Amino acid sequence: MFVLKFGGTSVADRAAITRLIEIVRATRQAALPNVLVGTQQDPRGPIVVVSALGGATDRLLGLAAQAGAGDADGARENVRLLLERHVEVAGVITDDGLRSEVEAYLGREFGSLARVIAALAVLEEVSPRWLDAIAAVGELTSSRIVAAALESSGVPAEWVDARKVMVTTAEHTAAPPLMDETEAKLNYELIPLLAARQVPVMGGFVGATVDGVTTTLGRGGSDYSAAIVGACIGASEIQIWTDVDGMLTADPRLVPSARVVPQLSFDEASELAYFGVKVLHPATILPAMAKNIPVRILNSRRAEALGTLITASRPSSGLPLTAVASKRNVTVVDISSTRMLMAHGFLHKLFGVFEHHATSVDVVTTSEVSVSVTVDDVRRLPRILEDLKAFAEVTSTRDLAVLCVVGEGIKGDATFVSRLLKALGPVPIRMLSQASERRNITIVIPDADLPGALTRVHEEFFA
Ligand code: ASP
Ligand code: MG
Repeated sequence: MFVLKFGGTSVADRAAITRLIEIVRATRQAALPNVLVGTQQDPRGPIVVVSALGGATDRLLGLAAQAGAGDADGARENVRLLLERHVEVAGVITDDGLRSEVEAYLGREFGSLARVIAALAVLEEVSPRWLDAIAAVGELTSSRIVAAALESSGVPAEWVDARKVMVTTAEHTAAPPLMDETEAKLNYELIPLLAARQVPVMGGFVGATVDGVTTTLGRGGSDYSAAIVGACIGASEIQIWTDVDGMLTADPRLVPSARVVPQLSFDEASELAYFGVKVLHPATILPAMAKNIPVRILNSRRAEALGTLITASRPSSGLPLTAVASKRNVTVVDISSTRMLMAHGFLHKLFGVFEHHATSVDVVTTSEVSVSVTVDDVRRLPRILEDLKAFAEVTSTRDLAVLCVVGEGIKGDATFVSRLLKALGPVPIRMLSQASERRNITIVIPDADLPGALTRVHEEFFA
């Protein structure tokens, strides 16, 4: 059985939801027992997980901020506009009875949202708990619209309130799931629906604590929801329907000849996700990996495209590389100290400073007397530098970029590094690192050199 997750752009308007309906219908038809071929596939499902209508979460958080700033009128007007948009999109529900039920639901949800917003605007304060309650309206309403739209197009579907099945901690705005509780609830709610040949439809991103208080899994969390559902129900595949053809061999804004990667491993996918290949939320693959469930990325505008399949291991493509990732606007901090010579505990002290200021470092290289790290988020950098200066010499350099080549084929290819460096051309390398898995090599270069270097490396290994 499949879990199908549709992102914001794949439910953004009536046309998108119409495409979603056809994709779900086709999945059900493909899963019917095929008497001719004699294959008996699992005819149940699929389970559908949806994001909020494209842009709705940003709007909801925006009006929460307005309320926090005491702008009651502005926030109220934005609630009205958002309701209007949802009612317009609900026009995709062809059955009059179902549509008026959904319109009534939208009225109630946005009505209570308006009351919450008005109260918060008086208090001029929005706690994380209320932020979650506000953001959740996006997925609760989009999933309700999609369930009714499927049903009225002849696909038997049942709306499932995500708060009844996705159990999380109380860490509002980024609450991790409690897997055992979630598995029990999901099975209790969904198995009977699946057995009755219904398509369960639920919002991603949203959950609730054991006490029933609404939470969210964090921005972009719908992919995560889909993977959790897939893992807990024992799905045979998790499909992430989005607006691109799959993961690409490079950032197409920098390398126009970038093409879709047909298949990659979970490990490669996590390296790529980390370096800003945004198609897939990095945490998504964790539950899928744990249960070894294939994840497929597909384009809801071009359902016929093959997409990208991510599995535990993959057949060799014959190429050493799978993709070239890149990240711009990176800052490097160089820390050196002669006291580091022969001393123990220096790295502990150094990373303790980053930890203290809640700043993560991405790439790290070391020599006996110096350590270089890259930092993405520079908000706390001045204080970090100050703390480091207490025990080391420190400099920082902005306007750098990370170029990271990823591929299971790297380790088996003795000529790879020399080819890579040759393709890179006359570019000053600030840092270079290869981890023990030898699945990737990461290079830090001046940002201005990135487009050229990326193009040459891509040309060398993919042309
Ligand atoms: N709607 C949420 C967001 O925009 C979750 C998601 O779409 O994955 O962050
Ligand atoms: Mg998304």
